[in-house]
Amino acid sequence: MNIDLISNRLSLRLAKPTLYRELVGYETVFSETKDQLDSLQKARLIALCKHAEKKSSYYHSRISVKILDPENSLDAILATLPLLTKDLVSEHYQSLVINSAGQENIKKSTGGSTGKPFRFELDYGSYIKREAVMWRGYGWAGYTYGQRALYLWGADGGVTGAARKLKDRMYHRFYNRKMLNSFALNEHNMADYLKGINQYKPSVIVSYVNPIYILSQYIIDNDISVHAPQRILTGAEPLYEFQREIIQKAFRCKVMNTYGCREFMLIGAECEQQDGLHINSDHLIVETLNDQGESVIDEEGDVVITDLFNYGMPFIRYKNGDRAILSSTKCTCGNPSPLIKEIKGRKLDAIKAPNGSILPGEFFPHLLKDIGAIKKFQVVQNCLEELELSVVQAETLQPADREYIENELDRYTDGTLKLNLNIVGDIPLTTSGKYRVTVCNL
Ligand SMILES: [Zn+2]
Repeated sequence: MNIDLISNRLSLRLAKPTLYRELVGYETVFSETKDQLDSLQKARLIALCKHAEKKSSYYHSRISVKILDPENSLDAILATLPLLTKDLVSEHYQSLVINSAGQENIKKSTGGSTGKPFRFELDYGSYIKREAVMWRGYGWAGYTYGQRALYLWGADGGVTGAARKLKDRMYHRFYNRKMLNSFALNEHNMADYLKGINQYKPSVIVSYVNPIYILSQYIIDNDISVHAPQRILTGAEPLYEFQREIIQKAFRCKVMNTYGCREFMLIGAECEQQDGLHINSDHLIVETLNDQGESVIDEEGDVVITDLFNYGMPFIRYKNGDRAILSSTKCTCGNPSPLIKEIKGRKLDAIKAPNGSILPGEFFPHLLKDIGAIKKFQVVQNCLEELELSVVQAETLQPADREYIENELDRYTDGTLKLNLNIVGDIPLTTSGKYRVTVCNL
């Protein structure tokens, strides 16, 4: 470990001792064998289930602690537990929530890649744990806490107040990171983004896939000289090999894939071997299920995740809407955590505007996540000047909500993209049975 990393660790220890302690605890995974890791998962799963059965009225009637026998295999125990879906969480929200005395849960929302705005909660202790797990996973991918980082990531909508902006800046400065808003990237301001990168000279860039890919194409097409970071980490969208090659060529560094979602934060990250994404399996249990609901490996299935530590709102065998292939191969790097071979089914089309803006597909889930009246939505673009937003309402969409959506869209497209908001009864699936959240037919 070099001197900078040692000093970064020390500053984390001083500034955030709880996070530091959790991180050190999670880093012991390398001393575990595969069998030890399996036993750890099982013990944590049984403890979580006992807690859920006792404290949550939802799980009280759905989990029988008597059959949670530690002598059974992890797979056998999992098979006795019911699946949880987004719809079930929304329907039984209050009976899933567990509040500990004196400690309020943290409330979160997500637009998700499934087009259904979604709310959930977690207890504070599990929030610190998932933050530690995120830093450990980023470490596997070559980004350790405190390194100078630039994030090309989506900004929250409507953040305009000077006080809030200052607070955000201070927060990011603590983590030694600078944020560039990926939603505002367009074909006219790419040079400004590159100037930002060249001036800041980050050691690491963390980005959505498409913005950094578009920027990389621009660098190559125009033969521009750009600062080469040590690493680029991508997330929020699947990374295809052709995209990885272009990004690596433009920035002259290794590009590492990560996988996460709002409900759990970081689920997995690539290591130096780049032979799949290591799952944070001492923190989450990740399964893939085929259409018959059977657990599969080396073949594509629905991703089902159990958070072993969210005691504030247990997520046990939760289908997050993604598809993936788990690998039966063991990584040669020494990390005993299992691998995800490939993540599928989260493709969100980018939306274009006459002013040259290219809004990544994540823009809309991010924008609509806090609007409670929206039950489900879909964005379709059939021509450059107009955009169709179909909404299935949970309750009547207020004029203020409509205004907020239009203002945010105008902000990034200079008012050049006309929004047609259609209230509909339902949103049909595609012929392949998939539901696409953003579709660009240009
Ligand atoms: Zn590895």
